[in-house]
Amino acid sequence: MLLWSDQVVLGDHESGLTVEAAAIEVEGCRIRAVSPCDRAGFAELAESYDEDVIDLSGRLITPAFVNAHTHLSMAAFRGIGGAAAMRDNVVENLYFALESHIEDADVRAFARLGAYESLRAGVAVVWEHYYGGTQLAAALADTGLAGFVAPTLQDLDGPGVARLESQWQATFDLLANDDLAERGIFPALGPHATDTVSGDLWRRITDAATTHDLTVHAHLAQSIEELRRAWQRHGTSALGWLARTGALEARCLLVHGIFLSQQDLALLDPTRHTLGFCPYSQLQFSFPADVQGWQAAGVPWLVATDCAASNDGMGPQKELRYVAGLRAMAAASSTEQVAFRESGSLADAEALQNRRQRTFDAWPNWADPAQLLARVWSIPGQLDPKMPSGVIAPGAWAHLLTWDVAHPNFWPGTDVLRTLAYAEPTDALDGMMVSGRWIGQPGQLRSALLHDGDYDDARREADARLKLLLARI
Ligand SMILES: [Zn+2]
Repeated sequence: MLLWSDQVVLGDHESGLTVEAAAIEVEGCRIRAVSPCDRAGFAELAESYDEDVIDLSGRLITPAFVNAHTHLSMAAFRGIGGAAAMRDNVVENLYFALESHIEDADVRAFARLGAYESLRAGVAVVWEHYYGGTQLAAALADTGLAGFVAPTLQDLDGPGVARLESQWQATFDLLANDDLAERGIFPALGPHATDTVSGDLWRRITDAATTHDLTVHAHLAQSIEELRRAWQRHGTSALGWLARTGALEARCLLVHGIFLSQQDLALLDPTRHTLGFCPYSQLQFSFPADVQGWQAAGVPWLVATDCAASNDGMGPQKELRYVAGLRAMAAASSTEQVAFRESGSLADAEALQNRRQRTFDAWPNWADPAQLLARVWSIPGQLDPKMPSGVIAPGAWAHLLTWDVAHPNFWPGTDVLRTLAYAEPTDALDGMMVSGRWIGQPGQLRSALLHDGDYDDARREADARLKLLLARI
């Protein structure tokens, strides 16, 4: 297949991003070649193609988003417990209780709805982590979503303890499944957290990660309870204990990191460890992690949504404006702000404004659109070499989006990267390719996703299963 547009986003977080006219050759699930060229160059290339030549001029082509931490099935819990549930540890107090009643078929039915929402938000690849790994992979295949599925592994606490061996087996069944691999569905190893997984199981996971070249995807230091247990059981921090088990020898995606000190961050190796920041979820279940500290420590980090139960949406693009604004928020919670609130004096107002200017100048590229977009494109896209994503380049998987730049949310299109990072562009998303396959036709994404019979059937089954689940609870 040969695609061309006068506006294609090329590059990554290392090279920077450009928007230029280019032809993209797609073969199977991957991008074979990318040739910056004008319309005449495209016509020349097209001569060697009998069919499958698509002129997408007038549309912007970008990589599809990668949502590197989510639990699709938890879409079923969106809104459960209300704001009060977020007062204390919502994972242990509410989600574990609900999850102990979930059946495998529920996981598949609920995950399909989370998958539809993800696709609608421009996500082609999810890093999924949940109980019922085989069912999760099936839900991805049902809807056309790609991703790395980490069946949740727990042996100390949580609803997955009794399912440990079945989820271990599910991980390796996925690894052996070539049909799923061809669709872009791969396994990751999914230890739940540092306080729900024993040292023996962490070591077993690390050995398997090394032997089979798998990525370890886990929650880390996400609650004060987890940190307390680390100190009480092991006399060190959550990450300090993880390092002691040897788990940091593996390639790891470690998510949340609410309680990470400078000493903890020094344990991480930027060549194989990436931290995950889920701002809108953390704002609800805890408070935002100190990503400026992560950045200062030189640890790679990405942006993801976490689940709909704690977010409440599944679009990683909308998290970016919050990330950009952290630079300004530092002034809002500063000691200068407290002093000004108390005195009301002009001198304290000047000091507060100075604080804002200092932070702005100290982080000059913090809010740069290309840097923000990299956190949902190429940084998560290079986590695992089995499926390079988040970039339009030879060898990367063909996960692409087309955008209607004549849409009012894009107008006047002066700086499309800024629009993609800061505006509300997903309404203008009109085409999507996952693993080299179009979802519907270019220009028809919305109707292909939500107005065909498959979605209605999926929703009816999820409705019925949610009703039964709530009745069991
Ligand atoms: Zn999570």
